[in-house]
Amino acid sequence: MNFDLSEEQRIGVDSFRRFLVAEVKPTIDRFASDVMPKAIVHDLFRKLSPFGLGSGWVPTESGGAGLDLITSGLLYEELSRVSSGLAAQVCVNDSVSLLLHKIGTADQQARYLPGLLSGELIASIAVTEPGVGSQPGGIRTRAVRDGENWRISGEKCWISNCDVSDLAVVVCRTDDGPSMVLVERADGYKSRNFGKLGQKEKSTGQLLFDDVRVPLANLVGQRGEALKIMARLFERARCMVALYATGIASAALDASIEYARTREQWGKPIGGHQLVQSMLAEMATEIDCSRLLAFRGLAMVEQGQRCEMQASMAKWYASEAAIRVTSHAIQIHGAYGLSTEFPLERYFRDARMMTIPDGTTQIQKLIIGRNLTGMAAFE
Ligand SMILES: Cc1cc2nc3c(=O)[nH]c(=O)nc-3n(C[C@H](O)[C@H](O)[C@H](O)COP(=O)(O)OP(=O)(O)OC[C@H]3O[C@@H](n4cnc5c(N)ncnc54)[C@H](O)[C@@H]3O)c2cc1C
Repeated sequence: MNFDLSEEQRIGVDSFRRFLVAEVKPTIDRFASDVMPKAIVHDLFRKLSPFGLGSGWVPTESGGAGLDLITSGLLYEELSRVSSGLAAQVCVNDSVSLLLHKIGTADQQARYLPGLLSGELIASIAVTEPGVGSQPGGIRTRAVRDGENWRISGEKCWISNCDVSDLAVVVCRTDDGPSMVLVERADGYKSRNFGKLGQKEKSTGQLLFDDVRVPLANLVGQRGEALKIMARLFERARCMVALYATGIASAALDASIEYARTREQWGKPIGGHQLVQSMLAEMATEIDCSRLLAFRGLAMVEQGQRCEMQASMAKWYASEAAIRVTSHAIQIHGAYGLSTEFPLERYFRDARMMTIPDGTTQIQKLIIGRNLTGMAAFE
C-alpha cells in the first residue's frame, strides 16, 4: 500500500487550505452561534464548486469536477478543520448530484445537475421523521398517485440544509415501499431550523409536506428501491462523515501542540510534562486510525468494491474518537479550553454532533456485527 499523496493532490490540498483561510474561515467565524443565511451558503457553495466540493463526484464529461474519492476525501477533511457543518452541507450536493448522474432521468439531469454542480442550487436528502430515525423502513410520509402527479404529505426532521435548500430528495412511502421523489421548494414544502449543540452555522431541521404536488416524472430511480439506493450512498457518505470528524480532531490536535509548546507551568512548557505528552500521543494515534479507516473505505468505493462494514468501522471509530480527542484538547488548554474566546469548546461541540447522523454508533456496530456473523440483530 502506498500512503503518499501525489504531487497533484499535495498542491491541490495546499491551495485549498490557503483558500479556506482567506475566503471561508472569516465567514464561518461570524456564524459561531447562528445558522448561515441562504445567500451566504450559496456564495460559499459557488466558491467551493471549482475545487470539486459539491461537484467532485460527477465526471467531467457530465459537467462535474470528476475527482477521485481520495482527493475528494482530502478536501472534505481540510474543509472540516474550518467547518464540519459546511462540509456536511456541501456534501449533500455531492450526493444528490451523484444520484441524479447515476439514476436520474435525462430530464432530471438537464434540470438540476448544472445548478447543483455549480452551487446555484442547494439540495437536501430527507429520510428521518419525528417517529423514524434508525429504522428508515418505517417512514410514514406518503406519496400518493393522483393522475399525472404525486401528492406528498408528511413531516421530515433533522434534515441538513433544510431552510436553505432549493430542492429535496424525499424518501416517501409509495404502494411499492419507500421511494425517492424530487420536490422543489417552489412546489410548496415548508421548513424550520432546529437549535442544536454544535455545527450551529449549519441549517438542520424540519421539512413539512402538506399535500405537495409534483409530477410523476419526479420519481428518482425505481419505486420501492429508496433504501437500497441509500445503502450504496451511505458507503461513501459514512467515510466522509469520518473525515469531518478527523478534520475537527486534527484542528484540535494542532491547536493543542501549539499551546503545549508555549504555555509554561512548573518552569517549562506544559508539552514537556509526560502526562500532557500522553494525551497528545493518544490524540495523534486516534486521528491516524480514523483517517486510515476512512481512506480505506473510500479506496474500496473507488475500486468499485462494496465496503458497508469498512464504512461503518470508519464512521463509528472516527466520530467517537473525535469526542475523545477534542475533550483532551480542552484538558490541555486548561480553563482556556472552555472559553468561547478559543476554538476548543466549538470543536468539542461539533465533534459531539458526529455520532448521530448517517447511522448512530450503535447502528454502525450492528452493521459490522451483521457482516461478521451473517446475522442481523436489528432488522
Ligand atoms: C447533524 C445531523 C444531521 C442530520 N442530517 C440528516 C439529513 O440530512 N437527512 C436525514 O434524513 N436525516 C438526517 N439526520 C437524522 C439522522 O439520520 C438520525 O438522527 C439518525 O438516523 C438517528 O435517528 P434518531 O435521532 O431518531 O435516533 P433513534 O433511532 O431514535 O435512536 C435513539 C437511540 O437508540 C439507539 N438505537 C436505535 N435502534 C437501535 C438498535 N436496533 N439497537 C441498539 N440501539 C439502537 C440509537 O443508537 C440511539 O442511541 C441528521 C441528524 C443530525 C444530528
